Amino acid sequence: MFKDILNKEKITEIKENFKEESEIINTFNKVFFKGIDMRASDIHIEPHIEFYIIRFRIDGILENFLKLEKNIGIGLISRIKILTGLDIGEKRLPQDGRFKGKIEKIKLDFRVSTIGTLKGERCVIRILSKNTELSLENIGLSDENYEIIKRNLNKTSGIIIISGPTGSGKTTTIYSMLKYLNNEERNILTIEDPVEYEVEGISQVQYKNEIGLSFSNVLRGFLRQDPDILFIGEIRDKETGEIAIRAALTGHLVLTTVHAKDTVGILERMKDLGLDMNLLINGILFLQSQRLLKRRCKFCENGCDKCNKGFKGRILMEEILEFDEKIRNILKENLNLIKFKEQIQYKNFYERGKVLFDKKEISWKEFIKECD
Ligand SMILES: [Zn+2]
Repeated sequence: MFKDILNKEKITEIKENFKEESEIINTFNKVFFKGIDMRASDIHIEPHIEFYIIRFRIDGILENFLKLEKNIGIGLISRIKILTGLDIGEKRLPQDGRFKGKIEKIKLDFRVSTIGTLKGERCVIRILSKNTELSLENIGLSDENYEIIKRNLNKTSGIIIISGPTGSGKTTTIYSMLKYLNNEERNILTIEDPVEYEVEGISQVQYKNEIGLSFSNVLRGFLRQDPDILFIGEIRDKETGEIAIRAALTGHLVLTTVHAKDTVGILERMKDLGLDMNLLINGILFLQSQRLLKRRCKFCENGCDKCNKGFKGRILMEEILEFDEKIRNILKENLNLIKFKEQIQYKNFYERGKVLFDKKEISWKEFIKECD
């Protein structure tokens, strides 16, 4: 039948198209199954001059997974853009969106971002698992710190500040706290850029600079929404800091993050921003700093089929500085942070004693170097 209507060339073209289409679908399945199986947090689809490379971010580090012909890479991105509802014709301007999927009964949420580069369009997919049992009990806190956190989360006003580098699990910690607090009696609002976890019962706002509102303006609007608990993604400027402190001192529980290397570093940072330290000190419930370290594989030294080059999963390491009257008084009397460290015999991650790791005693410093 075909022979009568179509010439040989046309048939070859259709066959070729069909072959490419099914290759794209196969590649899509392979990339997503494998990415999830390897517990990647992100999938990168990167254009090079003559091909595409797929890379996975696993335990914080990018690793090559697959090399694709250029047309397959382009087709893969188009398929992802269709699923995300993005404009497939627009290949240069940045676009972002989300799509949902299900793999082996696990509901998954994907955040997609695309942008045009000189070598073609690139795409990064953040894998956000919806079913992860995110809870304070299972994020890996020490028993002592778990108790401190629970005790303070039950207070109705004050501020909790968490620090740690990008990828140290701050958002996961904050969300496990919000989940602990989440019930019908509380109004929980978050303002973030971007929103990383979607949680039922919490009002989350993704802050976008494009709408012409400053972060502090959005935050002011938020405070008129009668919140009990407020999560402010990050304090980057004095204005935001001032609003956060005021909210914490007027009957709200405020959770936030700042860039600082340890808990005392949080105070240094807030001081540098020019905030009223007396007010802040009154408002702080506790400061937390954290890192995520790669966990050594139990079965091997340099890699086996159960792990990724000798490492599997990550462990949380956190330090918490809880504020009580004694600490507040020391700081109010003399805001000399070097002296403060001496008075409370403060030791950050790097200065602590020994830690038992892989049945060997090593210093925290070595521990971090080994795993970070
Ligand atoms: Zn292994």
